[in-house]
Amino acid sequence: MSYNSDTIAAIATASGNGSISIIRVSGVDSIAAVDKIFHKNISKNDAIINNNSDVSGQLASVSTHTVHHGWIGVSTDEIIDEALVLVMRAPGSYTAEDVVEIQCHGGGLAAKKILELLLHHGVRLAEPGEFTKRAFLNGRIDLTQAESVMEVISSKSELALSTAGEHLRGDVRDVIRSMREVILTDMAYLEAALDDPEHIEMGDYSETLLSHLDPIEDKLSVIVKSSENGRFISEGINTVIVGRPNVGKSSFLNCILRQDRAIVTDVPGTTRDTLEEDVRLGGLLLRLVDTAGIRETSDEVESIGVEKAKSAVEHADLLICVLDSSEVLTSEDRDILNMCKDKSSIVLLNKSDLGAVIDVESIRREISSFFGSGDGERKSEVDDQKSGIDDQRSDASDRISVMEFSARTGVGLRELEALIEDKLLSEFLGDSDHQSVPVITNLRQKEALYEVKTSIDRLRETIAAGMPEDLLTVDLLSAYESLGRITGDTFEDDLVDKIFSDFCMGK
Ligand code: GDP
Repeated sequence: MSYNSDTIAAIATASGNGSISIIRVSGVDSIAAVDKIFHKNISKNDAIINNNSDVSGQLASVSTHTVHHGWIGVSTDEIIDEALVLVMRAPGSYTAEDVVEIQCHGGGLAAKKILELLLHHGVRLAEPGEFTKRAFLNGRIDLTQAESVMEVISSKSELALSTAGEHLRGDVRDVIRSMREVILTDMAYLEAALDDPEHIEMGDYSETLLSHLDPIEDKLSVIVKSSENGRFISEGINTVIVGRPNVGKSSFLNCILRQDRAIVTDVPGTTRDTLEEDVRLGGLLLRLVDTAGIRETSDEVESIGVEKAKSAVEHADLLICVLDSSEVLTSEDRDILNMCKDKSSIVLLNKSDLGAVIDVESIRREISSFFGSGDGERKSEVDDQKSGIDDQRSDASDRISVMEFSARTGVGLRELEALIEDKLLSEFLGDSDHQSVPVITNLRQKEALYEVKTSIDRLRETIAAGMPEDLLTVDLLSAYESLGRITGDTFEDDLVDKIFSDFCMGK
């Protein structure tokens, strides 16, 4: 493991203009190193502030979690900046080592000079993620908590942040470790019974084992299912705006963003490429993509945009199909509507402020015709098989909502936002059953979960095939280790190095 006991330091705040910068130092020599450059009093005034006229090294004996005002510099004559110094002693710190944080003025240069001074005093520059890596290697947090630190930092919606917060609290760790505990107990019993058959009764242990594995598998299934939605929480809902040129796609984007981001003109085909913007709704993030007008075109630049738009539709989680309700439906509109049938979609009858030529009912009928029921009425059950098909059709057409809208006046915007929130809850976040288990958003953890499921499946097959008990311990160990990889209780050095190298500097 690439852990060593060097004292490390890094600037923990983002670069650029800000009011304060923080330099973080961790390791056995952190307090002594900062003490060399920290000067409590350089004037009478400081002596009053600090209630102390002493000017020699002052941090060595201070209590943990205390804040100290002073000056940082080579000497009292060569000061870089005024600062507050926080001392957090092991093990009650972020890294579980002695940690000192220096808060100086922002702007970057002061922090950089202070960091250089520390490096001059034998402190090493920290690698990205090294502070959190130390917290993990020192056993203060598990790997899921370490990974959640980056989840918190990169959260772009309330739900992403609250999910990351649950991970940071240790919800994934707790559920995984409790499963591991059960498996460990079974492994221990099996090993003991195999070693000492005279005193420890094996009996039909496979039955007992299955009764222990059933609840684990049930829980795993719920976690896997709820984690399928994890992508929507961490990455947002990929929402693509489609419609032929000039129906008001860019105007709609500006309307929902409440700003002029997309170019709006009367000339068809002016949105040449895809535009992307983020909107937060219902605790989730909508990643809105405005596509170029989807239509057959001879303009080379525009046709590249059209291809991009088609590909955007393919990858969309949610489609917002814009129609111009002041014009009759064209064959291009029908083609675009047809794209909605395989996706969760909202059809906006835009320009409702102008005289409407098409209405919600006529578009619903149009959509129903794509599902083959023609008249748009829901059929009553004719026979079991037929009604099954109709149920599927109505399920599919239920995923398409149609509403009047005006990007110019904003009429329909509130209703649309409420509709999107409803859709997000019902279609993208699954049922509330999943609330009882953590939703896993991290790909590595998800893959390890699948490995655990595979190991347990194999174990069941081993039991079903009536294989000898010592083979059961092999499968149990594999499930145990896969679970351990999620929390980092079993880990490979390379993997841990890779995980932390994706972290930001100073974290
Ligand atoms: P896009 O090509 O689909 O992106 O369409 P634009 O957003 O560029 O809009 C095309 C034209 O329709 C512009 O002149 C807009 O001002 C106009 N427009 C867009 N939405 C509305 C609306 O709700 N009502 C009216 N009256 N005009 C609109």
